[in-house]
Amino acid sequence: MRLPRREEGKKREMFDNDADRKLREAMVADQLAGRGISDPRVLAAMREVSRAEFVPEEIRARAYDDGALPIECDQTISQPLIVAMMTAALALRGTERVLEVGTGSGYQAAVLSRLAGEVVTIERHEPLHRTAAARLRSLGCDNVLALLGDGTRGCPERAPYDGILVTAATAAVPPALLEQLADGGRLVIPLGDADSQELTLFERHGDRCRRRMLTRCRFVPLIAEAR
Ligand code: SAM
Repeated sequence: MRLPRREEGKKREMFDNDADRKLREAMVADQLAGRGISDPRVLAAMREVSRAEFVPEEIRARAYDDGALPIECDQTISQPLIVAMMTAALALRGTERVLEVGTGSGYQAAVLSRLAGEVVTIERHEPLHRTAAARLRSLGCDNVLALLGDGTRGCPERAPYDGILVTAATAAVPPALLEQLADGGRLVIPLGDADSQELTLFERHGDRCRRRMLTRCRFVPLIAEAR
């Protein structure tokens, strides 16, 4: 894995204009608060981060659609409601170290960067990794470390993690991720096959994990490198 250069700077919004802000506020009110997302910190973070910044230019007019959208490499940026549910399930207070597997556009990482102390995000597609890392840098998300590689191995160098989000679907939790989850930590992952998945929350207590289903969902597959 390659470590990117990190730059100092204040988080800023590139699409900081009235029209985009109004669309974000409507998204938060209608798609999130209106559907049961109640954590004020999560709502504030999603009000702050412009989703328009993270979608391809040719579909920017659909940036606040209530659904997943296509990005490069045949991947997707997740539905805002799913981003909010996954983030809220981590119950972040601001000091945690969080691992995201599946950087994609970088949108989820930008939201997490406002809510956690440090975010490590891993993407397997180099073009996505490069674009997202540059975006996150230009937006001043200095507490995000974007890595290129197979996220099913986690990033043991920075472990343990208080929170882990896996934003691609798999049949079972990759063992390395459970090993890198801190005691008391939370891991959210879509479990299932291509047609039927359940977004699942694991809470680690010592050697045991409590498991809870959050909602049905549909993610692109988690692809592990052959070992
Ligand atoms: N969180 C992303 C965002 O905010 O745009 C959306 C992620 S998209 C639904 C899932 C991503 O997981 C894709 O970009 C895909 O390439 C990536 N992925 C799949 N398997 C992976 C793996 N083993 N390691 C790292 N990334 C992986």
